[in-house]
Amino acid sequence: MTSKGRIAAVNGNMITVEFDGAVAQNEVGYASLGGKRLMAEIVRVRGGRCDMQVFESTTGLSIGDSVDFTGELLAAELGPGMLGQVYDGLQNPLKDLAAEAAKISKDAGYFLQRGMYLPGLPRDKKWNFHPTANVGDRVVAGDFLGWVPEGIFDGKSMPGHKIMVPFALKGTYTVKSVAPAGEYTVTEKIATLEGADGAETEVKMMQRWPVKVPVKCFAERLEPSETLETTVRTIDTFFPVAVGGTYCIPGPFGAGKTVLQQTTARYAKIDIVISAACGERAGEVVETLKEFPEIIDPRTGQSLMKRTIIICNTSSMPVASREASVYTAVTLAEYFRQMGLAVLVLADSTSRWAQAMRELSGRLEEIPGEEAFPAYLESRIAAFYERAGRVRLRNGETGSVTIGGTVSPAGGNFDEPVTQATLKVVGGFHGLSRARSDARRYPAIDPLDSWSHYNPVIEQGRVEKARSILRRGSEIGQMMKVVGEEGTSLEDFTVYLKAEFLDAVYLQQNAFSEADATTPIERQKVMFEAVEKALLAELAFKEKSEARRFFMELQQTFIDWNDKPFGTPEFEEGSRAVYDKVATAAVEGCPAV
Ligand code: ADP
Ligand code: MG
Repeated sequence: MTSKGRIAAVNGNMITVEFDGAVAQNEVGYASLGGKRLMAEIVRVRGGRCDMQVFESTTGLSIGDSVDFTGELLAAELGPGMLGQVYDGLQNPLKDLAAEAAKISKDAGYFLQRGMYLPGLPRDKKWNFHPTANVGDRVVAGDFLGWVPEGIFDGKSMPGHKIMVPFALKGTYTVKSVAPAGEYTVTEKIATLEGADGAETEVKMMQRWPVKVPVKCFAERLEPSETLETTVRTIDTFFPVAVGGTYCIPGPFGAGKTVLQQTTARYAKIDIVISAACGERAGEVVETLKEFPEIIDPRTGQSLMKRTIIICNTSSMPVASREASVYTAVTLAEYFRQMGLAVLVLADSTSRWAQAMRELSGRLEEIPGEEAFPAYLESRIAAFYERAGRVRLRNGETGSVTIGGTVSPAGGNFDEPVTQATLKVVGGFHGLSRARSDARRYPAIDPLDSWSHYNPVIEQGRVEKARSILRRGSEIGQMMKVVGEEGTSLEDFTVYLKAEFLDAVYLQQNAFSEADATTPIERQKVMFEAVEKALLAELAFKEKSEARRFFMELQQTFIDWNDKPFGTPEFEEGSRAVYDKVATAAVEGCPAV
């Protein structure tokens, strides 16, 4: 039995509802407004009243209006048909929504029309089901019953989209029947399972899962020990991300957070990307929606959208929908992880999500914490990142969810609650610096402040040595601003030039240059060794101008080498040119690297 209620108060996007019967925290209900139904979620229950956040404008709702509870938590639809979709935070497909809205009014926008909800999975599309389970098989939640080809997940070069025993089923079931190979929609029966009590359950390709609850249908959690190849040199070499790990990119406005995430979406060695764009401005999200489909996936030569799902919200959409979007994103990611795939969730920006939390908390008149964020800000952020992980499935395969979130603190000051709470839980910190982005040194990841707890691909000691030269170089650079070049010793000046060289040829990477945008780890290792040769060489110069000339030439030689395709004779030639150049200035008998 589902409950009914009446609105007792309206406060912005929040309504207080008096109910009959019982309701649960996070249960979904619909408020009636004329012929429309506005979706809302219970955020607090107190006695016979509950507070609900409405996922859209509450204009027109008034005291006494009725609310129908559903008895269900806020849930996502999971199954074939999600790849390539652009959803809002409640998994409404935005393109279909726009088409529906256009039927009603010509000038209806791209975004949510009030009271209009569309299913997350297309209902009419038929999928070519290949059964793999047999009658009599004993199965549990998450086990594979069959698969369907979906886009690049065609069951040939890539595994097919697995149809699984619904995650919500508890205990062991016996397969009573499996549909024969053929075409089915997501709501048609593809199997019947019998529980221990003899009760039968019909399984369809589509299942629902509450977005705020982690999916746990796996055998065990594994250490995130393997490095995720992002092909961004500063990340992979200096501040690596693990497959199934977590990282954050805090940075001021315009420092390159979004570009860095898009580069990662494109080039990281990952099966599926789920991008939760909680945009700063409406225009920014529209840009993302225009740009993403045009990005070509370097692996398939097809649109990147074929292995991408975008969950998109702008700051002009109701806060509650923004709050839901990161949960929807990570739930979709967990679903694909259960198929044995590697999934990357990119949340841009988590500050908008936290602001939604703050607004909500304010309306609930909760005791505010630092900067008026709720006291549970930290635990919510932690709970979100905890949904990342690498797991061993029951069939022995592994799947993973890696989470990377940007943080956009006002004024780029990292000493604020969202950045600080995030830093406590993530495994990697890629802090973007205003000074670097102003100098157009992209990616603007600060090489001195950033860190990572994950396994490096190049020995830690060697990377640390390079960083110590960066640090010294930066100190000398600061000092030089005061005392000038003439007040700096030749020795110090050489260290400064070494640091600048490392920055120019290795840390900086042009996301918009075809040749430079992506550097596979194998190539990074070769490049790093060459850089190291120059950094550790004892170089003898008679004067500063000579040192400067040498590094300018070396830098050019290196940048020419950067453009050469890996593993070709030209690449080898470029490598030799770099080493030869270093040898011209190295002191005889200087220790080899
Ligand atoms: P943020 O999301 O931090 O506000 P953006 O990612 O939108 O910033 O970047 C702002 C601008 O900086 C971009 O439009 C682009 O011109 C420049 N930029 C950022 N990253 C790079 C990069 N890796 N290479 C070249 N230009 C970049
Ligand atoms: Mg941005």
